[in-house]
Amino acid sequence: MSEVSSAPSSIAVLTSGGDASGMNAAVRAVVLTAAHRGIDVYAVHEGYHGLVTGGDLIRRMQPADVDGILHRGGTVIGTARSDEFRTREGRLAAARNMVAHGIDALVVIGGDGSLAGANMFRQEWAGLLAELVAGGAISQDLADAHPFLRLVGLVGSIDNDMWGTDMTIGADTALHRITDALDALQSTAASHQRTFVVEVMGRNCGYLALMSSLATAASYVLIPEQPPHSDWPQEMSRLIRAGREIGRRHGVVVVAEGAHDRDGNRITSEQVRTLLQDDLGEDVRVTVLGHVQRGGAPSAFDRYLGTQLGHRAVERLLADEPHAPAQLIGLRGNRVVILPLMECVEQTQEVAERMKKRDYDGVLKLRGRGFREAYRILQTIQQAAPSPLPAERRFRIAVVHGGGPAPGMNAAVRAAIRLGLDQGYTVLAVNNGFRGLRDGDIQEMGWMDISGWVSEGGAEIGTNRYVPGPDAVARIAEQVAAHRINGLLVAGGWDGYRAAHELDRHRQQYSALDIPIVCLPMTINNDVPATELSIGSDTALNSIVTDVDKIRRSAVATRRVFVVEVMGRDCGYLALVSGLATGAERIYLPEEGITLGSLTADVHALAEGFRAGKRVGLIVRGEGSDPVYATDFITSLFEKEGGDLFDARAEILGHVQEGGNPSPFDRIQATILTARCIEFLSEQLRSGGRAGAMIGFLSGEVRFTDLARYPTLVEKNVHRPLEQPWLDHRELAAIMRG
Ligand code: ADP
Repeated sequence: MSEVSSAPSSIAVLTSGGDASGMNAAVRAVVLTAAHRGIDVYAVHEGYHGLVTGGDLIRRMQPADVDGILHRGGTVIGTARSDEFRTREGRLAAARNMVAHGIDALVVIGGDGSLAGANMFRQEWAGLLAELVAGGAISQDLADAHPFLRLVGLVGSIDNDMWGTDMTIGADTALHRITDALDALQSTAASHQRTFVVEVMGRNCGYLALMSSLATAASYVLIPEQPPHSDWPQEMSRLIRAGREIGRRHGVVVVAEGAHDRDGNRITSEQVRTLLQDDLGEDVRVTVLGHVQRGGAPSAFDRYLGTQLGHRAVERLLADEPHAPAQLIGLRGNRVVILPLMECVEQTQEVAERMKKRDYDGVLKLRGRGFREAYRILQTIQQAAPSPLPAERRFRIAVVHGGGPAPGMNAAVRAAIRLGLDQGYTVLAVNNGFRGLRDGDIQEMGWMDISGWVSEGGAEIGTNRYVPGPDAVARIAEQVAAHRINGLLVAGGWDGYRAAHELDRHRQQYSALDIPIVCLPMTINNDVPATELSIGSDTALNSIVTDVDKIRRSAVATRRVFVVEVMGRDCGYLALVSGLATGAERIYLPEEGITLGSLTADVHALAEGFRAGKRVGLIVRGEGSDPVYATDFITSLFEKEGGDLFDARAEILGHVQEGGNPSPFDRIQATILTARCIEFLSEQLRSGGRAGAMIGFLSGEVRFTDLARYPTLVEKNVHRPLEQPWLDHRELAAIMRG
């Protein structure tokens, strides 16, 4: 027998099962990473059908073949269901087609069915090849050259139904589609004081229904994981009526397509409509969102996710022992993780089993903490009034912004008010940031004061970059005492954190300031410490990606380089991630600066690209990348040096990045993190604690960091944290240049 090779001969990638936006990003990353590593890579078209059929459906890929697919929805290499692959004959044909191309490593992008099938194929591999040898279909030498099938799975599924990973490729885009539709329906429903029943996808998984309800303030949701109790029709009507009574003009009931009651009987959207119509005595309309949920351009997150996962899949295949069990590349928090594929598949299938057995607590447990938390928060927030109050309102908490506006700020204030009131607290909103706190511009908020805020961009209570000096801190202490504020939530960015730290460090001096304070990261720049991700940046990224898609298309008839300037001040997060999500040739970051040498090299690289047939070039420049080599300067330089090969244009995207309505992710995270902050304040208040803290995502988990550590976590003269793990993706960006 010939020696077992330590690296796979050739890699193939296929997409299988339902299509999902972001699959193209993953395919592109697989191809570009393999090319970078000098490994031959093939795309198998039409999923397992292509593997079984072979011929023209298995195509060698070059980097140029994945040009211009990043922004496209669905999967450009096609997907299909294949009954043949379920049979041994089918898998024999597949194995034969693979070894004929020297392929013995596979990246499968699909749902649990596709991944289970792939794993069975991997286990059978040696037997399949032996059978092919015995039948004379392949030579012993060929079989010996490929003794193992290496397999890595990526989950492509709009349902987000895979155990082990927080997000699947395509779920975020689907959530965008649903959220847009629900926002649109709410405005028409409110105009007519009408109730809508909206059916969303999710046969076994209520993720899309639950999260879209949380992101749009739906009145009621029906998901398969938590079938309602037998009196649900009355409960649903009661909620909608109660909402009307307190001034809610619309009612929206979201029904997951797999919703059922506790006895396992399906609950259809039509049934919900009839029930509501009879009970409310008014016209109720049904909207079934259907396949639009799958389609359309992938969100920034799905492009970034697909890119990261595709890249890691190839790295993993190259690093793995040849006979290592199959792995699944997933996401925990905002970190890519490697998980045992079959455990993930089995646990996912276990959900379906438990659902059949009506073990709904078990189902909810398997869905994970984030899902359970979202469900619990939704149940509180969608009520028409807080839970019955304790005899007296024991504590008074205030919420204030600081820094530039971040999409999601209103969702955070809304959550703070509703969840705070539900705890029996008095909740105060501080207008106009820390200036308002200094001047006593503070108002008590009621349950309905923030109705409709979840989807609004901007900051209804106002925000600014004011940071109090010593005199102002004294006046703030007076106002905090005068308003008897027991706890403070600061939802803001760089200047909000500075202001919070100013109060924190004057605790000893002013007893009124010796209260629990918690900072919630809300800035598009992602430049605050104690978190790897801030709320607002996802909306900004989507805004950039949408604009760059248009900018690219504007150049169809010309040969042009665009220099796109994005926000971020001293932090290059928006530049790097948007550059990755739009397929930029070059990304300039404040963390690296710009030199004349690098500009010269970039001009040469671009010229070479255009000589080889490139039509559009994209450079993303973070606004704080260099004080001298500004966007206009770089554009002029490229314009001059491009000569006849290309012209150059500057696009400074500006404040549209801050101003959009929040993305579903930002709405949801603003709500969930605010809930954690309220819990933190509650624990402190109940136990007599007076801690100052910053909440954030660290190593894939939500954690609190002592606010006193703030100065030690940021750079001295520039606005960014000392630790920025996302900078590791610079290498990925270089590989994705192709
Ligand atoms: P998903 O991957 O989205 O769960 P399916 O369950 O429909 O979608 O699976 C897609 C394809 O994967 C099937 O058409 C079939 O070719 C293959 N497949 C699924 N399950 C198996 C299995 N147990 N054995 C072999 N192939 C399978």
